Amino acid sequence: MDLPRTPSFRLDGKRALVTGASSGIGLGAAVALAEAGAHVVCAARGMDRLTDAVAGMTGAGLRAEALPLDVADVEECRAACAGAPFDVVVNAAGLARHSPALETRPEDYDAVMGVNLRGAYFLSTEAARAMRAAGQGGSIIHISSQMAHVGGIDRAVYAASKHGLDGMVKSMAIEWGRAGIRINAICPTFIRTPLTEQTFDNPDRVKWIEDKIKLGRVGEVEDIMGAVVYLAGAASAMVTGTSLLVDGGWTAG
Ligand code: NAD
Repeated sequence: MDLPRTPSFRLDGKRALVTGASSGIGLGAAVALAEAGAHVVCAARGMDRLTDAVAGMTGAGLRAEALPLDVADVEECRAACAGAPFDVVVNAAGLARHSPALETRPEDYDAVMGVNLRGAYFLSTEAARAMRAAGQGGSIIHISSQMAHVGGIDRAVYAASKHGLDGMVKSMAIEWGRAGIRINAICPTFIRTPLTEQTFDNPDRVKWIEDKIKLGRVGEVEDIMGAVVYLAGAASAMVTGTSLLVDGGWTAG
């Protein structure tokens, strides 16, 4: 009897772009893709930390290179995607400026939306444009948040940007599915990274987080790496337009 074959989780021969790759979840995504065999273009705004990250990866025998990229700049996104198309794009660039809604300044609103939603939007269109021009499919993965599914204290702008991302992912999946371009979001709970340092310094917020996460611990970058590899390759070939919660049960109730 012919048994079904488990699709490979390997990414050998694939080219990947990871934004926000110099720290946190982006660095985790870059390492995960490279360990699965991909050549990873690691992008970030500043080159200092990025150069260190790429040196660490190549020193470990992984295939990686550095690229300066501000995802809020559409021209830079276009240039980054202009050469040979990427097979995988992981957008982990993100910004948070938390405050009570009544105290949100317009410049904070614009900054968060400019990176988390507008940046994600045009990075997606430029990546997909290049894939289509080359007649190839690909997988685009946005690091969204559980705040795409629920609200949070002081998080009206951040949650709005991530809820917006969800609608964008669904709509682009409808448009690009026939071209073999998949687009999905990963929605993490609180993960220990530079972005959440301030939150973890606040005992009230830590209590809120520990009460809500059913698995009884906060997330680590490693908790997101398997989801990235899954959505990047053949194992998720029938998955598009979805939101993969990696939230320790936060949104379960
Ligand atoms: P992080 O601060 O370590 O990483 C964010 C990265 O994005 C940084 O390297 C930063 O330089 C980069 N970045 C910001 N603006 C950019 C721009 N305009 N162009 C290019 N890069 C830019 O934080 P992280 O926690 O790893 O966050 C990664 C993503 O994960 C973000 O989208 C964040 O919203 C999301 N997320 C994080 C958590 C968490 O608890 N840490 C939870 C859910 C979702």
